[in-house]
Amino acid sequence: MTDKPAVAVIGAGLGGLCAGSKLKEAGFNDLVIFDKGDKVGGTWRDNTYPGCACDTPVAVYQFSFAPSLKWSHLFPRHHEVQQYAEDLCDNFGLRPHLHLGDEAVSAVWDDARAVWTLATRQGKTYEANVIIPALGQLNRPLLPEIEGRDSFTGNAFHSARWDHSIDLAGKRVAVIGSAASAIQLIPEVAKVAEHLTVFQRSANWVIPRRDRPITDEEKMLIMTAPHVAIHNREDIYLWADYLFWQAFSWTEAGRAAFTRMALDHLHEQVSDPTLRQKLTPDYPIGCKRVLFADDLYPAFVRSNVSLETNAITRITPAGIETADGAKHDFDVIVYATGFETTGWHWSLDVVGRDGIHLSEAWADYPEAYLGITTAQFPNMFMLYGPNTNLGHNAITFMMERQVEYIVKALTEMQARNLAAMEVSRTAQDYFNQELQAALAKTTWADANCRSWYKRPDGRITQNWSSHTRDYAQATATVNWEDYLIRDRTPVMME
Ligand code: NAP
Repeated sequence: MTDKPAVAVIGAGLGGLCAGSKLKEAGFNDLVIFDKGDKVGGTWRDNTYPGCACDTPVAVYQFSFAPSLKWSHLFPRHHEVQQYAEDLCDNFGLRPHLHLGDEAVSAVWDDARAVWTLATRQGKTYEANVIIPALGQLNRPLLPEIEGRDSFTGNAFHSARWDHSIDLAGKRVAVIGSAASAIQLIPEVAKVAEHLTVFQRSANWVIPRRDRPITDEEKMLIMTAPHVAIHNREDIYLWADYLFWQAFSWTEAGRAAFTRMALDHLHEQVSDPTLRQKLTPDYPIGCKRVLFADDLYPAFVRSNVSLETNAITRITPAGIETADGAKHDFDVIVYATGFETTGWHWSLDVVGRDGIHLSEAWADYPEAYLGITTAQFPNMFMLYGPNTNLGHNAITFMMERQVEYIVKALTEMQARNLAAMEVSRTAQDYFNQELQAALAKTTWADANCRSWYKRPDGRITQNWSSHTRDYAQATATVNWEDYLIRDRTPVMME
């Protein structure tokens, strides 16, 4: 590959835009970035529910190469992260490369030519040497299979598809679900609804967020003494990587401090013992995402908010029935019920070497090497792929490491005139044996823990197994002995 390879990024969320920015910086200008939406931003474009904000401090939830001064709070609001995505496009010259509203629906590998052919929903085709699926893990909203769900005659929508045309003021609102999305929208809905009933299947471990506005003085300090911001970022990163990680290790000692912190928070904010009991999880901390909130428990204390822990038996035209026989009538039902994750049902049909579809290769479970490459799919590099999700640190850190790895790989492919690289099955198998062995030592593996991180058979398909600095080390160099490589044939792309 004497010319720089043509690269197609699929997805213009923060991952896809990080790839675009770093590829452009490295001179990979033959670049297209597809997205089905009419705006960039991915999950930050899709999630607009009231109260939506990043639950990771912004000091770490931004790319190291693109720090911003526009944040209003320690935990940025969703519209600010959306603006950050737009700013990446402007600051890194990505606009000419964007194909918005142009959903790539298939990518087929031509082994003879070492080229991917992409087809979009509009019927257009494109060719690229390299594809970078940046499709996210949390973009397929999951509506629960509850009897009678479609019979409800009021308004109903998923938290990630918020219907802003529905005014909740004075309405009887149900929120089904009580996890990361729910805890952000519950306090906001509680402020306007006549009555809010939260249907909680499992309580969650919640620790204080301690959010606050970033002051003008702090912004001035960051501008005049950038090392202060760098140190602050490093401190928060290290706290999360060393200490917060302990909440996920499968040891009493590791989890004790965080369990105490969460219980103290609950006791400080909720005095009613019955309500406290309902809000106390019956599983070890760390199994599910540990949540950060200052305003959640005060919302449950409000007179217009009820916490319902009886199981939902059916949905009726008027509302929701629970296992105790109670009938709850509603005007609006909000499904804060999460996303389809472990099936990895991408909207993109990827067909690799020997005609294998990624959906077949991953029929039992998804597997990748470093979460980036996967056997039989040459020149395909994923962002936020299998086993790269985190519970304790910023996903932007992981995506930046993945992009750096890809840029290194592509640069060397060009230097060595390679047509294709594909991770070997042996390397992939070895990597995954080690990974699953490490995951078995985390709290996610506990048989009593259920989460979107793992499949019903217990295999953890979403999460990285350790500190993020270990991931940084693992991705710091491309180990070419783990790859099958092919020299460039005389066939060149048009
Ligand atoms: P989630 O963590 O999967 O939570 C889904 C909720 O719905 C859980 O409380 C679940 O209960 C409940 N649920 C599901 N099916 C149900 C049913 N049939 N009946 C009753 N309850 C049901 O989804 P999420 O809250 O949208 O969060 C997903 C992930 O998105 C988070 O872990 C996080 O990574 C990310 N996120 C990030 C932010 C942020 O940074 N701002 C905000 C929101 C989400 P069980 O616990 O019993 O299953």
